[in-house]
Amino acid sequence: SLATDTTINVYDPRSEEEQNLQHFLILDLDRALRTGGIHLAYQPKICLRDNRVIAYEALIRWNHPDYGLIRPDQWIPFAEQVGAIHGVTLWAIERAVQDLPRLEQKAGRPVMVAVNISARDLARSDFHSEAQAILSRYGVTPNNVMLEITETAVMRNADQARQMLEKLSRAGFRIALDDFGTGYSSLSALASFSLDELKIDRSFLTDIPTDAIRQRIFHTAVELGEALDLRIVVEGVETAAVADWLQRYPGLCGQGYYWGRPEPLSIL
Ligand code: C2E
Ligand code: CA
Ligand code: CA
Ligand code: CA
Repeated sequence: SLATDTTINVYDPRSEEEQNLQHFLILDLDRALRTGGIHLAYQPKICLRDNRVIAYEALIRWNHPDYGLIRPDQWIPFAEQVGAIHGVTLWAIERAVQDLPRLEQKAGRPVMVAVNISARDLARSDFHSEAQAILSRYGVTPNNVMLEITETAVMRNADQARQMLEKLSRAGFRIALDDFGTGYSSLSALASFSLDELKIDRSFLTDIPTDAIRQRIFHTAVELGEALDLRIVVEGVETAAVADWLQRYPGLCGQGYYWGRPEPLSIL
């Protein structure tokens, strides 16, 4: 049953009602992808040194005719569980590379587009070829595309993840480790993955302008990213106070409501 697997952090049904809702949703998934009920919102990643946009992250949005706006956390884990996520990933990659020229127009300069992928995608032995095939249809090269995978997803099956990230990286894709600091990976484990970017989870920013201990913890995360020679993106920057505090790390990048909320391309 859905509830018995405690070793992996997936869907945890809270009520029968909720579970039924998720089943109904997934039945609608293909139609929603085809007919525009599901779309992508884009949130900028900013260079702290000059406030320039370096990338846009695609975040999926589902506007359901019966249930309204459904947050990704409410259905993505279930889609992963029932094996429906891979189609979503390929759809998101396709839509994101289609949108890339217009994102570059908005930014006024070359940018990357980032797409969130799941552990299930890494289990598909030909994912790198599928992804590459989509890009070539739009004349986009993989080095313009950042694939974001959470630390937890990577550590769930580290050998499998290592192999696929290596293939994706050799194909030219950029790889970001998402929600870093929530997945308990060791420095040596991190060093064994083909990574380009470390996204420091937003939980690190709690009380950061005033709490000396938290500042030291944050500093350790930054040093780790630097030791691995990764680009570092600080997630969840909401206020000027936090953005100002971060100025002591001018080499970092940031993302958060302070610089921009995720918005559909039409109103970005
Ligand atoms: P994530 O990849 O870590 O994305 C960041 C989440 O934080 C997004 O939530 C974003 O809207 C939110 N956020 C951005 N800036 C701020 C801020 O300053 N403060 C706060 N409190 N939140 C901020 P969202 O869009 O609800 O997405 C939640 C998660 O769902 C994502 O976390 C990602 O893991 C997953 N997700 C979203 N789109 C996709 C997708 O296309 N495919 C897959 N597999 N997962 C996706
Ligand atoms: Ca992400
Ligand atoms: Ca994240
Ligand atoms: Ca997250």
